[in-house]
Amino acid sequence: SGGTVARPLPGPPAAAALLADAAARAARLASPPHLSIVRLGEDPASVSYVRGKDRKAREVGLHSTVYALPEDTSQADLLALVARLNADPDVNGILVQLPLPAHVSEQAVLHAIDPRKDVDGFHPVNVGELWAGRPVLAPCTPAGIMYMLGHYSIPVAGARAVIVGRSHIVGRPLAAMLLNAHATVTVAHSRTPDLGAVTREADLLFAAVGRVHLVTPDMVKPGATVVDVGINRVVGADGKAHLTGDVHPDVAAVAGALTPVPGGVGPLTIAQLLANTVTAAERQAAARL
Ligand code: NAD
Repeated sequence: SGGTVARPLPGPPAAAALLADAAARAARLASPPHLSIVRLGEDPASVSYVRGKDRKAREVGLHSTVYALPEDTSQADLLALVARLNADPDVNGILVQLPLPAHVSEQAVLHAIDPRKDVDGFHPVNVGELWAGRPVLAPCTPAGIMYMLGHYSIPVAGARAVIVGRSHIVGRPLAAMLLNAHATVTVAHSRTPDLGAVTREADLLFAAVGRVHLVTPDMVKPGATVVDVGINRVVGADGKAHLTGDVHPDVAAVAGALTPVPGGVGPLTIAQLLANTVTAAERQAAARL
């Protein structure tokens, strides 16, 4: 239908609302929630993500400590630090920035974090609680996306949701959250034949793949809400690097609502991390009473 343009769903106002709520909850605690962030090596993306998390934590009145360890830190030394943070009653949340260098087992590290302090929601106990419909600390990107849908009053209950991508960070936990919110959920991935036939069923379409403009207008049901999780670095015609999503811009002529990249779901991840840190602190305070 010529001339229609999808309603844009910008992330920053939703992230601001989530942060304001987290800050208000934090202010009710006896002491500011304390997040400890651990990174190994100097991978530029990891350095930048950790800096962003630390900065935003302080901005909203949380305590934040960053452990920037050398690339060649042994797994034993990293596990010893995690054990020390687990045992420290002054630490409410622990985040080990992924990816880790090849000589460290991510599994071993994620299993070692106390599930009550696991603000990334990657510990198997928290993964299990999420799939059992009892989420406590759940992965930040999908939880932030769910918050954003609520913020913009996008109906989820009864909707047909299709997620493209089945990663442990985004696709899988998002499937659990949408199920918990009473959507009918399909997860498509690299081995799904005729992807367009699947995505055209969606009232809510989520692209979490990491492929530039994989989702084209012909793959979208008219009026659908499309959430673009992809963050792809591309060099434009101007020769400059910029970010673009997994959804082709022309989808705006078909979709009913669309999250932009950049400026879409991106800012929700850090906001949700800080909300998780406050949740962890609240529960730890209640357990001590
Ligand atoms: P991943 O590489 O772990 O998973 C990608 C998934 O896409 C896989 O499950 C794979 O099966 C599927 N896939 C690959 N090619 C496909 C194809 N041709 N058709 C259908 N499915 C295909 O990626 P991830 O960690 O889930 O991240 C996905 C994207 O989201 C990336 O661009 C990443 O940068 C971005 N991301 C953004 C945020 C954020 O906004 N805060 C957070 C995490 C990830």
